[in-house]
Amino acid sequence: MTATSSTKQPIILPGKDIVLDEDNPFEAMMSRFDFAAEQLNLDPGLYRILRHPDKQIIVSIPIQRDNGEIEVFTGYRVRYNAWRGTGKGGIRFDMAVTLDEVTALAAWMTWKCALVNIPFGGSKGGVVCDPTTLSDGELERLTRRYTSQIIETLGPESDVPAPDVNTNERVMAWIMDTYSMHKRHTVTAVVTGKPIEMGGSLGRREATGRGCMIMARDAMRVRGIPVEGARVAIQGFGNVGSVTATLLAELGCRIVAIGDKSTALYNADGIDVVDAVNWVEHHRYLSGYPAAEVIPGPDLLTVDCDVLIPAALENVITKRNASDIRARIIIEGANGPTTPNADKILDDAGVFVVPDILANAGGVTVSYFEWVQDRGGYFWDLKTVNSRLEKIMVDSFREVTTMAEQHSVNLRIASYMLAIERVAAVHRLRGLYA
Ligand code: GLU
Repeated sequence: MTATSSTKQPIILPGKDIVLDEDNPFEAMMSRFDFAAEQLNLDPGLYRILRHPDKQIIVSIPIQRDNGEIEVFTGYRVRYNAWRGTGKGGIRFDMAVTLDEVTALAAWMTWKCALVNIPFGGSKGGVVCDPTTLSDGELERLTRRYTSQIIETLGPESDVPAPDVNTNERVMAWIMDTYSMHKRHTVTAVVTGKPIEMGGSLGRREATGRGCMIMARDAMRVRGIPVEGARVAIQGFGNVGSVTATLLAELGCRIVAIGDKSTALYNADGIDVVDAVNWVEHHRYLSGYPAAEVIPGPDLLTVDCDVLIPAALENVITKRNASDIRARIIIEGANGPTTPNADKILDDAGVFVVPDILANAGGVTVSYFEWVQDRGGYFWDLKTVNSRLEKIMVDSFREVTTMAEQHSVNLRIASYMLAIERVAAVHRLRGLYA
């Protein structure tokens, strides 16, 4: 890992001789880790181990395009830590995928699973590609070849993928089938986020958005903001953003701004979310949706609102725009939307930030339920899934807010402290295999 890049403003951690490039997601993640580790007085040996990924795999993925040409893509799978159980984490297909990003996301999965106390470690995968330029057949060949390239690491007991940016149930079905063909028998528990018909769980598709809704609701309660009529802005209108918007609108919130990569929309009276979801089903993106005013994309984050929900990609709340944010609560639906420099600005402004590893943990929580159901061969009804999800999210929120009060730290550092301590506790019990 290089220490810094020359053009970007470095951040220097208190009491540590480490200079970080805050736009590098791995370093951004590590700066929070370092701060939390210091608060915990983490043993130096454990600290050294936890600063490194367990395993990083880089693969070349040759596929035949529909025109007959061969193209070679690059893919990654990183298992950051598996002391608490199976490595768990999504696979994204995106041009911005890098090894550093996938490693950061795998580390975040480690802390996320520990924070909500499910028996998983953390992994992540990615393929550098633009799936919108691939035909269905090309996407399937890419997915299957990538799966076969990383097959040794996969398995219900070792590493279990799930959907992430630009991947979905269909991609999970191909991964499950490819793995099962190699094993010569059907292995449903090797991926989560699968179609219901082949071992998926009810409620999994909506789980991340449902978790975000629960966190927004509880944060509003803590901050004394009435849920009924609360003004909410949401960046990202994919699986996470659209479900969060729908569920918050059902609670009585006014969704004043929404946006995706095609446009950003504002309506002070509230956007009809069901209508907007319907528009996206027919037009793919929000662009052209008539019942709201088009605003510049960056303004979505700084509109006048009570709750802001970044539910798209990393590094969107930075030192450049953090002081312009007017929301009193931020719910991080995306992984890594806020840079460490922005953390400080938001803290100073008294903004209540529910961090990614807590706010978006609903998805992996129901992935855990799916894995349990697959292994038990017995499937739960939606009410059971949702009430168990609700309990885990509410309990975790309470634990994090209590920890934050006890140590006078923000919710992000409290979340890291709880998570790191749980991972460390298992290591102390297991010891170091030589
Ligand atoms: N991709 C989701 C996340 O970042 C879900 C991961 C999973 O279910 O394994 O949390």
